[in-house]
Amino acid sequence: MSIALLTPFGGVRTVTGSRFLVEVDGRRVLVDAGLFQGLKELRERNWADFPVAPRSLDAIVVTHAHLDHCGYLPRLVNGGFGGPVHVTYDTGKLMSVVLPDSGRLQEEEARYANRAGYSRHRPALALYTEDDAWTALERLVPRSFDEEFEVVPGMVARFEPAGHILGSSILRLRLSPDGGEPVHVTFSGDLGRQQHPLLRPPAIVGETDWIVIESTYGDREHAEDDTVDRLAELVERTVDRGGKVIIPAFAVDRTEVLLFHLRQLAEEGRLPSVPVYVDSPMALAALGVYREAIDGHAEDVRPDLHGDGSLFRVPRLDEVLDAQGSKAVSAMGGPAIVIAGSGMATGGRVVHHLARFLPDPANSVALVGFQAAGTRGRQLLEGADSLKIHGRYVPVRAEVCDLSGFSVHADGSELIDWLRTADREPSGVFVVHGEERASLTLQRRIVDELGWNAVVPRDGERLDLHVAAVPAGAAVPATGSTRGGEVGEHAGRGRDEVPAGAEREGKEMSPDDARRRLAIADHGVLSTVDPDRGVHAVPVCFAVVGDHVVVPVDTVKPKASTSLRRTDNLDVDPRASLLVDHWDRHDWQQLWWVRADLRRCAAGTVSPSTTAQLERALRERYPQYRTTEFADLLVFDLEKIGGGVAAG
Ligand SMILES: [Zn+2]
Repeated sequence: MSIALLTPFGGVRTVTGSRFLVEVDGRRVLVDAGLFQGLKELRERNWADFPVAPRSLDAIVVTHAHLDHCGYLPRLVNGGFGGPVHVTYDTGKLMSVVLPDSGRLQEEEARYANRAGYSRHRPALALYTEDDAWTALERLVPRSFDEEFEVVPGMVARFEPAGHILGSSILRLRLSPDGGEPVHVTFSGDLGRQQHPLLRPPAIVGETDWIVIESTYGDREHAEDDTVDRLAELVERTVDRGGKVIIPAFAVDRTEVLLFHLRQLAEEGRLPSVPVYVDSPMALAALGVYREAIDGHAEDVRPDLHGDGSLFRVPRLDEVLDAQGSKAVSAMGGPAIVIAGSGMATGGRVVHHLARFLPDPANSVALVGFQAAGTRGRQLLEGADSLKIHGRYVPVRAEVCDLSGFSVHADGSELIDWLRTADREPSGVFVVHGEERASLTLQRRIVDELGWNAVVPRDGERLDLHVAAVPAGAAVPATGSTRGGEVGEHAGRGRDEVPAGAEREGKEMSPDDARRRLAIADHGVLSTVDPDRGVHAVPVCFAVVGDHVVVPVDTVKPKASTSLRRTDNLDVDPRASLLVDHWDRHDWQQLWWVRADLRRCAAGTVSPSTTAQLERALRERYPQYRTTEFADLLVFDLEKIGGGVAAG
């Protein structure tokens, strides 16, 4: 009998550690690789062995760049996972901001704990390092929204906008166990709200057999939309007292949304003239990704937004990059607004600001995001009169204000409304990603209000995705022709008409053409020098084919110990050497971004079969390279290299 199974290993009856194993005919794909955060017993799960061997996973799909969905990835890669990690482009870019930062933070925490001697572990270790994070990022395969791709034989996936943070996705899986009748599973991911000021509302459910839905706010309704007014009042009150407003904010999205609203308040004359510090290099890097996405009209950005650079232009905005500047902010007197991470005050610079400013009743703390159990943010929300910071108790005398209306999670009624966009009653709904009470409340509502089958699964529970009777109706088409359309448009298309792994539409190039274009193309060979071994460790070859420069991706691996040396005729096109410049400067983030952009561009112009032809041609031309080095080719668009870097 054909088998499709879903097993949660985290992210059930808690809001963190989202990791869902999907198995089809014995092939294993992990949906999300999230970090546990908050309570100590949860965080300790990050150190436990993953229930299945990481090397036995064939692929990972990540719905968005929040750490509770992607922060465990470096650990899995360290543990032997070597497959692809599918993400949307902006999720990839944001992961290249948050994962290295997460590694850095964990190294710092371990160092600090060792110095202060407050850890029970001696010596305290980092869960993973910044280097580990960069190694993990090499596994990323960026995808467009609405692009269909085969994850493993028997599983086709597609991302649709979830409206939660930039790049965040609702994940559609079409499982065909044993090549039989397909089963459709829809993961809500973290679901956004209709009124996100920067992002399009979430895509609809449409046609599906199973739904895996988050329930962060499953037992709550967001207050009426006076959150911005309440922020304005809080700022005014605090400034009148001569105090500072401290806002612990998730670097990704919350900081952007806050700046957007602060700018609007300033424009309406409702923001007192005080300095606004964004004290988080990570938030500033994420802000850069948002700006680029808005300028580039990314698919999930609201189409009415204009990228004239003014969206986040708050008067007296001060971007604090280095630790020195952060200390200066802490030491400074007088009123100000300080936005710093992390969002739940579990780490990051905001912790030092809280230690400094909580004891003074003139100050205030605005809590603008979800605060998980066990975090300092949650303790503040629940009225704690002191907070333990770096082994000491700090009295809480500052005003604490709950502004969870800024949340980028749908509330209970919004989750129910989203489910109502399904074309028909699904076989079942799995309620996940919520604290137990929230999940159970939403489950009850689904049963009572929609009359559907809904369960809150347990950790490690194997859920059978068998569909008893297949109702006639729509299928998710296998071609890439869904762009811009809704799932419902394809109703009436029979399931049997959709062959699994069908050839995609795209511009085709005959093998002869590809070879001819290669033959006339310039090419270059780079070699790398490993100072430890003193040898040319990794050959990097590229070919300029028409408008594209083709590089085997495996060889473009950033390692701090490796430097690139130019050989041969690298300078055939000055734009191609920009990649090397980034490498020379060890600017892995820029390098990664350029690659992601190029790949995104290439995805629109070169079909997989063309890539395969180029790959064959390259193999003939460069017989000295092993076959595997061509297994994953990057096709870079030269126009985009020039344009992207000039703009950045
Ligand atoms: Zn999230």
